This record gives sequence, C-alpha cells and structure tokens, in this order.
Amino acid sequence: MADLTLFNSLTRQIEPFVPVHSGEARVYTCGPTVYNYPHIGNMRAYVFADVLGRTLTFKGYKLTHVINITDVGHLTDDGDAGEDKMEKMAAEKAQSIWDIAKHYTEAYHADVEALNIRQPAHWSVATDYIEEMLDFATSIADKHCYELESGLYFDVSTVEDYGRLARAVTEEGEGRIDAVEGKRNAADFAIWRKTPAGETRQMEWDSPWGRGAPGWHLECSVMGGKLLGFPFDIHTGGIDHREIHHPNEIAQNQAFCGCGGLSDATNSGAKVWMHNNFLVERSGKMSKSSGEFLRLQLLIAKGYHPLAYRMMCLQAHYRSELEFSWEGLGAALTRLKRMVMQAERLRDDEAGETEHPKFVPLLEKFDAAISDDLNTSIALTVLEEALAVKKVDAGVKRAVVERMDAVLGLGLIDLARADLRIRPKSATITETEIENALERRKAARAEKDFATSDALRDELAAKGVEVMDGDPLGWEWAL
Ligand code: AMP
Ligand code: ZN
Repeated sequence: MADLTLFNSLTRQIEPFVPVHSGEARVYTCGPTVYNYPHIGNMRAYVFADVLGRTLTFKGYKLTHVINITDVGHLTDDGDAGEDKMEKMAAEKAQSIWDIAKHYTEAYHADVEALNIRQPAHWSVATDYIEEMLDFATSIADKHCYELESGLYFDVSTVEDYGRLARAVTEEGEGRIDAVEGKRNAADFAIWRKTPAGETRQMEWDSPWGRGAPGWHLECSVMGGKLLGFPFDIHTGGIDHREIHHPNEIAQNQAFCGCGGLSDATNSGAKVWMHNNFLVERSGKMSKSSGEFLRLQLLIAKGYHPLAYRMMCLQAHYRSELEFSWEGLGAALTRLKRMVMQAERLRDDEAGETEHPKFVPLLEKFDAAISDDLNTSIALTVLEEALAVKKVDAGVKRAVVERMDAVLGLGLIDLARADLRIRPKSATITETEIENALERRKAARAEKDFATSDALRDELAAKGVEVMDGDPLGWEWAL
C-alpha cells in the first residue's frame, strides 16, 4: 500500500501521515453554526471531511471522528465583532434559540444523509460542554487572560508563534476585528462574553467572570481535547477558519497544554490542520442572504439527485476553489449516471475476491491517488476504469468497485438509473402517466401514425416532459 500523505496547513507542506496512537486516527471537524440552513458550500467542507475519514478507514486506521454543532458563541464576524448569530436569528424569527438550533440541526443532518456523509463517532453539541468550557477557561485565565468590561480576553502575546497558521502579522491583527476598548493586542479575542448590563440573553450561564456565554473558539478547543485527547491527529475546517478561528483555537490549546512554539506541530493540539477551499459562485462568494440561496434542498427541488453534488465535489481537489454552476452539476449528474449504468449490471452478483490480475494494478493506482493528499479526481477516473473492465467475473468486479466506492461514497451499487432522473418537485405529471403516454406513442409510431405520435409528444411537452428519442444515456424522457 502507498504511504498516506496529507497537506498540513500549519507547515504548508505535504507530509506523511504518522498517527499519534499507532493504528488509530482521531479527527475533529468544525461543524455548522445552526442559525440557518447550510449552503452547499458549507456542505463541501463535510464532504471533504467525510472523504478524509473514509480514506483513513481504507488505509486501515481505526477512525474516531468528531463533528461539532455550534449552537452558541459564533458572532456574525469570525472575530469579536457583530452579534451572536443564534441570538440574532432567534430574535428575527421570534423563536426560542433552542428551537432554532433544533430545526437547523435537523436540516443539516438531512443534508449529511443525502450526501452519503458517514456518521461520525460523536456529534458534539457546544451547549452540552459549558461546564468543561468553564473549567478550561479557569485553568488558563491567570496566565493567559485578562478581564475587560465586555468579557474575558485571551492575550495572544502569552503564547509562542501566535498566528502561524494564518501567516498573519500579530501586531496589525486582522482589519475586520473590531477594536474593543482596552484590548492589549488587536488579535486578542474573547473566550467569555459577559451579557451587557441591563440585557438578558436567551442563552447565558454563570461564570467567574459574570453571567454570559462562551466565545466561539473555546468550544472547539474544549470538545476536541475532551473527546480526542491532546494532541490528536487531524483538525479540519473550511479555509476561512485558517485565518481566525483555528489560530485562536491553537493559542488556547497551547495555553491549556502548557506547550511551546509551533515548530513542533503537536503543540498546536493537533498534528495536522487541513482546510478545504471554497465553493464559489461566478458572482463571488457564496452567501445565505443574497441571490438564490444554494441549499442542497434547492438542488433536490430542481430535480437533481444530491449525489450529483457529491460527484461535483469529488471531481475537484479539496484544496482548489470550485465554481458552482447548474451546467457543472448537470455534467456531474451525467457522469454519475454513466457509472451507475455500469454498476447496475453487477448488482445481482455476490461480491467476490478483489485479487485479480486485471484489477490489482487498478487498485494500486487508486490507492496511490487517494493517498496523495486525497486526489479524488484521479481516484474517480480509476473507478471508471475498473467499471469498464471487460470479460471478468461480475462478482470480482463488484468487490473492486465497492472497495473504491467505500472511499468515494457515491453508493453506486445502491443507486438505480431511475433515481437519477431530473425530476423537479414542482412537476405535477406522474411517471406512470409519462410511461403510458410513451407506450401509446410507440404503438402509434409502429403503425406509422405520425400525427398521433406528434400530438402525444406535444401533449407531453406542454406538461414539461421532453421526449428524448435515441438518447445515448437511455434517458428516453426528461422533465
Ligand atoms: P459555518 O456554519 O459558517 O461555521 O461553516 C461551516 C463550514 O463551512 C466551515 O468549515 C466553513 O469554513 C465552511 N465554509 C463556509 N463557506 C464555504 C464555502 N463557500 N465553500 C466551502 N466551505 C465553506
Ligand atoms: Zn471550530
């Protein structure tokens, strides 16, 4: 087997993966802030983390994966500026924060399932860890923090190499961090935010620094350390987290563990920090507020199978920016369909051995690709090569396809062609009605009754059904 190598954002280098605990891989993924629906860009981050987890399993490691659910603390700006995202949405909707969190957590889980993202060992919910957050903050407060009227702040000058992950200059800090009166360094951040006098928040707890709520960065340090133990193997998130959230998490971890500088990556709390690049729209950054809100459910409503979006993600390297377009999604769907057409023939056979002279080199090639910092685009082409191998026992082929697909997660053996048909939710005509009309049209054509045949075609067209004679993919019709 090839050696697994991964790009470490901390060193900006591809490094061989060497687990902290032999034979194990412990991974923490920054999860969603459940104040709104995730957009498909957010979901790219979880498809990436899922492929990473599946690859670690494929490479034989015993995986422990944690994904958190942020239901407190995340401000509208990743720094210390703005309002609490959860409080803001709850106020706008005049609902309890807990109901908001429940609703959007469920919506997120639905997307996770639709994208074949495997269940992690733990979904850790931030508000379940308030006690632990208070203990963590208390243990570092004396040496690393100072109190201001608005809360308890972390002094970034008390740890070595602050900001190395972002490659940011500490002194200037980030332009978008609001100046808070009294902060010692621009990049200092709140680890506990006091509720302003005269205000009440829906979510607040008592603390040695007054009633209030934890800062966003604290939760990930606490849950990662608690559930995986410092140092753990891999920490993941979207590329935006490389700038503020993760440098702050790292600073807290260094303080908590009493660790030195970051030339030893394990001092950061994790050995490897990995970041997926953004999914973008041609018009720019993907957003939940402007234009068409690109949710997975919107893709589904327009008739696209959600795994077409997973395919789209796999076609790009996770460190490359990926531009979303409906044409691109359509192309990914077609590619998925071609694969499913070949996989359908294997469905009735029991999976056999994978040792076969035609497949051994392909499995090696697949392993080499996925082990090379998760090169999913090459891995996909190898899977296509395997599907196209002729004159082999179907059981053997099925075993090989399943082995590769266990990493890519397309669920090829379980998908049927008909599942992939574009079928907008708004369509009123049923499949049976379409099939019946097409049967009648076929009969008319057999009798050379082209008038009836054309009339039926027009009737279907009026109901939004396009008849596709001689389509190489065998769609026959599309809505
Ligand atoms: P949030 O719910 O805002 O905390 O974001 C959830 C995850 O999605 C984080 O890991 C972000 O870094 C990531 N993310 C946000 N926007 C995008 C995007 N357009 N493309 C890919 N990942 C993103
Ligand atoms: Zn996080």
